Parts: sequence; structure tokens; C-alpha cells
Amino acid sequence: MSAKRFTGHLPKVAWLTPHTELRGVFVGGCVERGVGSKFRALAHAHTGGAHRGFICFRSDKWLHVKAVWLHELAHVVTRSPHSPRWRQFLLQIGGTLDPVYDNGRCVLRSYHPRARVPTIQLAQEVSHG
Ligand SMILES: [Zn+2]
Ligand SMILES: [Zn+2]
Repeated sequence: MSAKRFTGHLPKVAWLTPHTELRGVFVGGCVERGVGSKFRALAHAHTGGAHRGFICFRSDKWLHVKAVWLHELAHVVTRSPHSPRWRQFLLQIGGTLDPVYDNGRCVLRSYHPRARVPTIQLAQEVSHG
């Protein structure tokens, strides 16, 4: 991996999960606040507002993890939090509700219905604690 980090709007050709509902992918911060803006999760999806249809990645470190794309894409398409509809769609497109690890780090926790889900906000969060 190069030390040089990609930031900004990710060109469509680099999207792992292109979809008609996916309008943009922003890397290195939130599209609403620009490069360098902080958020707690590794990635989140905008399901409403001016940037509905956008996925933001905190860093390009996670851009190769397809499970994260599918997780966020499912939010974009269903415009829904971690709901039954979201789960169904996620599984339909080949995503997982199981925890996902990358380089030994938990990048997605379990999203099975029995798992406790924290308060859902508009910007979806992926717990990494
Ligand atoms: Zn964002
Ligand atoms: Zn989520």
C-alpha cells in the first residue's frame, strides 16, 4: 500500500458496487463537510438530504472491503436503517450480516436481528469499538 492516500470524489470506474441508486462515493471525510471531516464509523451512507445516495469512507484504507460497500449500498437503495428490509436487500445482493474483519480489524460488526443495534441516525454508522 502506498502511503499516499486518495481523498475526494471517487471516480465511478473505481466503485466496487455500482448501482443506479448510488450517486457518489466520497473518501477521506464526509461529502457534506469535505476532506478531513471526522466521523466515528469507517463508512456511512446518506439516505436522505442533499447528498442522498452518497457513501462516505473515512479513509481509502477500507475501499477494498466489498462487504462495507454492500452494507452501505443497501442503506442507499432501501433508504432504510438496519431494518428487516435492509437486511433482506443486503443478503439479496450478496452482503453479509456477520462480522467482517480486515487485517485483523473488525470493520463490520454483526447485524443479525438479535444483535443489539444502537440508535439509528440518518448517517449510518459502522461500529468498530
Ligand atoms: Zn457523509
Ligand atoms: Zn449500517
